[in-house]
Amino acid sequence: MTPLFLLNAGIYLVVGIGLLLVWQRHRTQTFARDIGCSTLFAALLPLGYLTNGLAPAPWNALGLPLVVLGAVPNLLFLASGVMRLSGRRLPYGAAALIVALALSALLLPPLEMRLLCWALFNLSVLLTVGALATRWLWHAGSAVRLAGPLLIGLGLSQLPLIVYGEQGLVPNLVLATLLRASIGAVFGLSALDGALREAGKLAARFQLLTEHAQQGVAVTDGERILYANPAVRRIYGMPLGLDNHTEFAKLPPQAFNVELLQRYHRQVQDRPGTVATWEGRREVAGGRVLELRFEAWRVEWDGQPATQVLITDDTERNASARELLHQATHDKLTGLPNRTVLMQRLKEYCYLTDGALQCTLVVLNIDRFKLFNESQGLVAGDQLLVAFAGLLRDALGAGAELMRLGGDEFAVIDPDGASVRELGIRLRGACARPVRLAGGEYVVDVSMGVAIFPDHAVDAEALLRAANAAMYQAKRIPGTALALAERRYAQLTGMALENEQALRKGIRNHELYLDYQPKIDAVSGKLLGFEALARWQRPGIGLVSPVEFIAIAERTGLISELGASLLERACCQIAVWRAELGTCVPVAVNVSPMQLLDQGFPQLVERVLRETGIPPACLTLEITESAAVENLESTQIQLNHLRGLGIALAMDDFGTGFSSLSMLRELPLSTLKIDRGLISPLPAPDAVAVVTAICQLASALDLQVVAEGIETLEQAIAARDAGCHALQGYFYARPLAVADAGDWLQRQCGAGACAGCAA
Ligand code: C2E
Ligand code: MG
Ligand code: MG
Repeated sequence: MTPLFLLNAGIYLVVGIGLLLVWQRHRTQTFARDIGCSTLFAALLPLGYLTNGLAPAPWNALGLPLVVLGAVPNLLFLASGVMRLSGRRLPYGAAALIVALALSALLLPPLEMRLLCWALFNLSVLLTVGALATRWLWHAGSAVRLAGPLLIGLGLSQLPLIVYGEQGLVPNLVLATLLRASIGAVFGLSALDGALREAGKLAARFQLLTEHAQQGVAVTDGERILYANPAVRRIYGMPLGLDNHTEFAKLPPQAFNVELLQRYHRQVQDRPGTVATWEGRREVAGGRVLELRFEAWRVEWDGQPATQVLITDDTERNASARELLHQATHDKLTGLPNRTVLMQRLKEYCYLTDGALQCTLVVLNIDRFKLFNESQGLVAGDQLLVAFAGLLRDALGAGAELMRLGGDEFAVIDPDGASVRELGIRLRGACARPVRLAGGEYVVDVSMGVAIFPDHAVDAEALLRAANAAMYQAKRIPGTALALAERRYAQLTGMALENEQALRKGIRNHELYLDYQPKIDAVSGKLLGFEALARWQRPGIGLVSPVEFIAIAERTGLISELGASLLERACCQIAVWRAELGTCVPVAVNVSPMQLLDQGFPQLVERVLRETGIPPACLTLEITESAAVENLESTQIQLNHLRGLGIALAMDDFGTGFSSLSMLRELPLSTLKIDRGLISPLPAPDAVAVVTAICQLASALDLQVVAEGIETLEQAIAARDAGCHALQGYFYARPLAVADAGDWLQRQCGAGACAGCAA
């Protein structure tokens, strides 16, 4: 008996270890591990019997524990292995039941009954597992389908034990050994078959992934290309189905940089786990130039160290990224770099060169481009910009860069700061050339501001500000002009902003008021009226000239608010004087051309007259000649409306501008004010002649004449003799504060020397 037990245990050991080795090689085949373990535990059963029967006391007592230790896991692993092979897991409940029943069959019955109970239990478990395996695996494949019947057979091998008791041990052992060996072979074969199928699946997946990948996948041993997927062939423009080595040999050497590949191959082989990345432009078959990106890492290929290279064709992606960048940094109309690029370049110069190099910045602005756009249309305006950009580009030297900052504004950066003079000559030359458009030839005037880094500013923003400030200085000069930045220009620009803010605040805080300058009858010396002149007592600064702040108000649009408030103030004052003194003289209020552009201006005047309750005859409005000339038609409508209200209108500063005579006839004027520029040379004969001629003309047109800026008695006499009706100037009085003007009024009206205004 003993050799039979030992043979049984030995065969179980061999089969169990064999299955475990199969599992170790093909880890996905976990059922092989379970059946292997089951068979190894089964080997403990004959050893337990031997120990029980042959070992001397007390060692023979170890027989039963050995049997229990072998029997329970044997059945558990067997059931689990079969379940795994059929793609299932042994439920915990079933496992617990097997353990419980096995222990009861081995431990509970009396000693003589144990063998029978165990055999019966074994029989039932193996028959159940065998039946299930037959059902589940019958369709799985030729070798595997035998597993179920073999397990049933293994269960039936218990019958001799059940029928004959201990006498049935020999046939039981022989049958069980044969069946176990067969089961081991069947499961081993299944495992190998499964592993093969798994490997096939993996290979198919690999093929699917790499063959259809858009990225090139190649494997190299540093000398040869061992594998290349179709994408590699597509990228390099090689026909499919040719041998790798010959094809690569055919490629132009710059396409497949073997040296570089070898270098990176060595790098990743020396440092496993690293990924080498490089990119470059490659000329491939057909003369195409591609932008390729390579990533390489170490792999094992056919058991040998190799390098896998991933090749990505970034040509299109890079091109669209470049296109996007171009759109973001270039002007669509002219194709020139835009303000973003300008700031970037300036920053590069200012920060990177650290003042070591000079750089010239020119800001160019086309004069009256708005006018061109309005008269010729936006399409022609665009064409002009494109053509002008072309002229500038042609004129610039190699190093200089032209940009469009927006609208009609361009910029030139010349890194060679030494050539400012030459750059100026070139730009002037370009501006002087006619711009040829479909509608004809045009010559544009351009204002240019030049700032040099680091002379005028040391950072990008300040340099641009300096060039801009210089450009605005150039704007003051008629025609094409170029101004070099000076620190004071930038200060002026800064001051302008500050002044604007201060004026806004000043209007809100009622810092502005009116002074009144008397107008005297040239013959009788009576007070004929006052001119209301605006004053701004700016906190911390003092008195600011109206020439200055009226210009700011006009530029910022504050003029309508300011003009309305000054008009109200003047009318209120007239009402006060009328109430206090019972009479008043006409007060002239200056009106800015901007106010006249407002269609609602006559209604404003009407409202103010109504609210203050003063008669229109007490108010005169002074308009400047330029206002009338620039918008003659609309001014005429506005003035007719005002004249219709009964308000007197005076043409101010006559003789300084166009002095259009036809305008004097067309506008509903009542008074002409000769500018101080024509009065101050009096009594020089030529000046007298001019003033006399103006007075004669005015007389023919039935206009009153006021001479402005009378400073001396001689001027007063000459003006009077020339025919001026009224005189105004420091000789009589400077612009007076309200109280002083009131005194004048009281004195004159009290003495009856006051003209008064019709009620
Ligand atoms: P304007 O309307 O021609 O005013 C006459 C200017 O000549 C005033 O200067 C006045 O002070 C000055 N003036 C008068 N007599 C003499 C003289 O004998 N010698 C000299 N050298 N100057 C004399 P002001 O007040 O500085 O005003 C300058 C200009 O500012 C005004 O010229 C007018 O165009 C404008 N302005 C003043 N107030 C207002 C206003 O309330 N609204 C508007 N829109 N403009 C105003
Ligand atoms: Mg005036
Ligand atoms: Mg004037």
